[in-house]
Amino acid sequence: MSCGMVFDISEAAIHDGPGLRTTVFLKGCPMRCRWCHSPEGQSPEQEMLLLPDNSQRLCGKLFDAENLARYLRECAALTPDGGITFSGGEVLMQSGFVLDLLSRLDGIHITVETSGAGKCQDLLDIAEKCQLIYFGLKIIDPADALHFTGMSPEVILENLFALDRCSQTRYILRIPLIPGAIATEKNFKALMELCFKLKRLHSIEFLRANKLAPAKYASCRRKFAPEFAACRTGEVPDFFAPPQPFSILF
Ligand code: SF4
Repeated sequence: MSCGMVFDISEAAIHDGPGLRTTVFLKGCPMRCRWCHSPEGQSPEQEMLLLPDNSQRLCGKLFDAENLARYLRECAALTPDGGITFSGGEVLMQSGFVLDLLSRLDGIHITVETSGAGKCQDLLDIAEKCQLIYFGLKIIDPADALHFTGMSPEVILENLFALDRCSQTRYILRIPLIPGAIATEKNFKALMELCFKLKRLHSIEFLRANKLAPAKYASCRRKFAPEFAACRTGEVPDFFAPPQPFSILF
């Protein structure tokens, strides 16, 4: 039986898939997005968070798949119109654990959120066992992606096209509207050109930047330095800063 590191479990989540969901946040991500609103989810290791009242809290708990699946089945029984969502961090960093969990959650609606930063076969294997994938797509230009996310996008884009080509599972692109980094004319042109090459894309959801993110960085003893103001790729059109999230159906 496998074990995995989890940094949060949110019951009654309403934006992580259809219906009311229990969302499991897996710890560890190979990317380093400058706007990340879960900096405590980036390291795959347990870490001690420093809270505003100077107390400390251990972040990250090791679960075995059997016990976590039992708990998730109980949660799912309470939300028959919803299901379970696996998020992160990056789910693909703990693919063996996730696949083990999925094999124990038959009959439950499963959504997986990924940025595609992992092995292609892991993504396809997980896709085969879930009903919906949210694929977080960010920056297309390799230099800009490296600068803002700590990772060049080639592997992510290859995985996206493999998901489009080789899987039957519904997927939705999620694009966070980060001014000066993602929400630029240059990047949006590239994103839209890419989207029109995808054959099975269901829809795109545009997400607002989470303005509460900076508070978490102090807890992780890190500096929040997103460089939103230092736009390297163009100005931020008003269109890209909508008051509410919105989606485009393909
Ligand atoms: S991919 Fe998500 S979890 Fe990973 S660094 Fe970027 S925003 Fe954070």
